[in-house]
Amino acid sequence: MKTGLITSDTYQNHNTGDGHPEKIDRVTAIIDNFKKLDNKNLVWKKSSKFDRSLLEITHSSAYINFVEESFPKKGLSFLDGDTIVSPGSKEATSDAVGSVITAIDGVQNKEFKNAFCAVRPPGHHAEKNKAMGFCIYNNVAVGANYLIDRYKLNKIAIIDFDVHHGNGTQDIFYDNEKVLYISTHQYPFYPGSGTEQEKGKFNNIFNIPLPAGTTSREYLNAYEYVLKKITEYKPEFILLSAGFDAHKDDPLAQFQLESKDFYKITKRTLELSKLFCDGKVVSILEGGYDLLALQESSEIHVKALLEFD
Ligand SMILES: [Zn+2]
Repeated sequence: MKTGLITSDTYQNHNTGDGHPEKIDRVTAIIDNFKKLDNKNLVWKKSSKFDRSLLEITHSSAYINFVEESFPKKGLSFLDGDTIVSPGSKEATSDAVGSVITAIDGVQNKEFKNAFCAVRPPGHHAEKNKAMGFCIYNNVAVGANYLIDRYKLNKIAIIDFDVHHGNGTQDIFYDNEKVLYISTHQYPFYPGSGTEQEKGKFNNIFNIPLPAGTTSREYLNAYEYVLKKITEYKPEFILLSAGFDAHKDDPLAQFQLESKDFYKITKRTLELSKLFCDGKVVSILEGGYDLLALQESSEIHVKALLEFD
């Protein structure tokens, strides 16, 4: 079996302005590296078009209208202090969501066993009604709702190993018993949320806040609690909010993970996915701002996806 690699050229048109950490080169670094590796078991696919009604399950209609009207004809426009859009962001945001749809359909139709979506803008800070932290539409959340709506699944697990708490994903699923959201993140830190006391209406939110300076060993120990929670929950599908900004070289945060730790995290998660959901995993890029660390970490993450059978 194969692994899907889903992307779209339109991420290159999402311009966030000079000096912005969430820049075009991030996805280019990842994609160029996978092109070079030329693994025959990677199935390259483009993002799908989808109906607006799919977005409306995750975001309010008023918010979607606000976003659609905010794309400037020229220059840049600010959705919040650090979430910036350009004319080409319209297609890029749509294709980021559409990549997740392609990935889910490919896994459900057994075209590939699992998939990685190399997309930008990222999504996990985007709330039901709010753009935030470089995120416009919540890609992973739309994916979870698509699995519920289109494939009638009732138990989706989202594991978010980005170094920041996914306040948006938590907000969207806070009272949805069909989704378990698990996050490991630096705390206290941006965006401010993510305490252990935030549990969700159905005990469906599981936050693991960790201090600045968390080492590989400390992180992997904490990740055992993620795996334990997955074992208890027995999901039908696992979505990964795959941020690589917990890397020691990342300029935006203070965890000390090495690239190879992302292999261990992925491998351990996949072993469990085999027990509960036939290995059905779709991973979606979130953060990661050091280009070399991002390239290495995403390569080794996908290596684990490819090896799995
Ligand atoms: Zn992040």
